[in-house]
Amino acid sequence: MTRRKASRLGLVGTSPTIAVKMEADRLRREGVDIIDFGPGEPDLASPEAVKRAAIAAIEDDFSHYTAAAGIHELRAALAERYSARSGFSIEPAEVLTGVGGKSVLFAAMMALVNPGDDVIIPAPYWVSFPEQVRLAGGTPVFAMLDKADGFTLRAEVIAEALTPATRMLILNAPSNPSGGILPAEEAKKIAELAVEHDLWVVADETYESFVYDAADAFSMLSLRDVLGDRLILVSAFSKSWAMTGWRVGYAVAAPDVVKAMLTVQSHDTTHTASVSQRAAVAALAEAADEPAKTLELYRERRSLLIGGLSEIEGFVCPEPRGAFYAYPDVTALVERKGLASSAELAKALIADAAVATVPGEAFGTPGHIRLSYATSEKNIEEGLTRLRRFAQ
Ligand code: PLP
Repeated sequence: MTRRKASRLGLVGTSPTIAVKMEADRLRREGVDIIDFGPGEPDLASPEAVKRAAIAAIEDDFSHYTAAAGIHELRAALAERYSARSGFSIEPAEVLTGVGGKSVLFAAMMALVNPGDDVIIPAPYWVSFPEQVRLAGGTPVFAMLDKADGFTLRAEVIAEALTPATRMLILNAPSNPSGGILPAEEAKKIAELAVEHDLWVVADETYESFVYDAADAFSMLSLRDVLGDRLILVSAFSKSWAMTGWRVGYAVAAPDVVKAMLTVQSHDTTHTASVSQRAAVAALAEAADEPAKTLELYRERRSLLIGGLSEIEGFVCPEPRGAFYAYPDVTALVERKGLASSAELAKALIADAAVATVPGEAFGTPGHIRLSYATSEKNIEEGLTRLRRFAQ
């Protein structure tokens, strides 16, 4: 007899992302050479300064518990960075650091969402948003963004999704998976809606460093005067500094919100690794120009991948304005191949072309697949060759 597990497990679905990853891993073990467009992480090494700071921290025996919200140097450096970016004066007490953006987001959900609350999530969305909301007892309400509009975040779409039970909005721009952005004028209208309906606004700006046109760069933090303590900005070192494994994420929010999230975190992970915190301080102090350099690399890879995909029949691939994912519409290819869905297409791509992608079903928008171009040009070229052969 199997022992009974927690009923909350029934609230969260198994992700198609994991299904693809497991299949890719299985084939790799069998010796198949997979071109992997799946993972949402840079293929780059962490900056040298980051590595050196971590080694020094280990040699200094910086190996004890730290303050649960993070070491003062890190909170102060982040407060300075976001004060400079937003034009508002942000105090270290308004910064919480934690185990990657994901766990900081989870602390926000656990601290702010009540059972019965509706949380608006624009779709396509990052896989963990709905699941975190459900685990906190809330109900995700999806606001479908317009594909023809490049999945740009618009206030109108958010307004249509409002219900009497809406308590929170989750905004993610640039978006994983679509690369969609949030125009300043739409953000302003969304902020007004949030004030009118008294909503929390969680702004996930994990991909803040990767906006290809400077005119599109925007942070919700610039609306702090409008939003007041409703705003929780979440970001991380993971993508900007190629530091996924170090697990350093953070939130910028009003002191009492930081305190509420810290109450959750203090009974869970406590804080992220002491050594990683020192490494993150070094990223800000000594490798500040790394994200901008990486952006130029991604710009080249973007043009290689999007240019290649656009020439393959069955892929309709607009140029993403941010992040590092292509998110083509593949409905024509799905039909031509006689497949049932983009999830089936992703399975066929891995089985027949040895190319791993993530199907749009994972992000609430079937009919697409996501391909990460945070991978080498050589991989992109080989992947394109295989996709062309498959599509013929
Ligand atoms: N938010 C978004 C939109 C992401 O895509 C990711 C990672 O893929 C995260 C948050 C979490 O990042 P981290 O690795 O810092 O937990």
